Amino acid sequence: MSEAGTIFDKIISKEIPAEIVYEDDYVLGFKDINPQAPIHVLFIPKIRIATHNDIDVENLDYVGKIHLAVNNYAKQIGEDENGYRIVMNCNGNGQQTVFHIHMHFLAGRQLNWPPG
Ligand code: AMP
Repeated sequence: MSEAGTIFDKIISKEIPAEIVYEDDYVLGFKDINPQAPIHVLFIPKIRIATHNDIDVENLDYVGKIHLAVNNYAKQIGEDENGYRIVMNCNGNGQQTVFHIHMHFLAGRQLNWPPG
């Protein structure tokens, strides 16, 4: 895994702006700049984990915290019962473009499956 940071490090440190909708000690949630649904939020760990392949026993707690953050946020905005989709893209075939893991939270419309 490369040591170089990504734009998401600068969002965590507030060096560049983002529309932050959720924050706790482990996780930041902010609106995606290119939304694919009426509600499209990215949940990221406050440490850099480049890809899903880099999740291990040392950083696993952050992934659990992301899931809890999603649950809290979905409930807070009243979309928990309507439903939503969470997606984590990995590397080339997954079309990952930012190498700091992020969970896409998509909600607010009927989502298609399979995604294609
Ligand atoms: P992925 O293709 O899974 O790596 O998704 C990266 C996501 O980050 C895309 O949906 C982008 O629209 C989003 N993104 C990139 N830069 C920013 C930014 N500065 N603020 C918010 N979202 C961003």
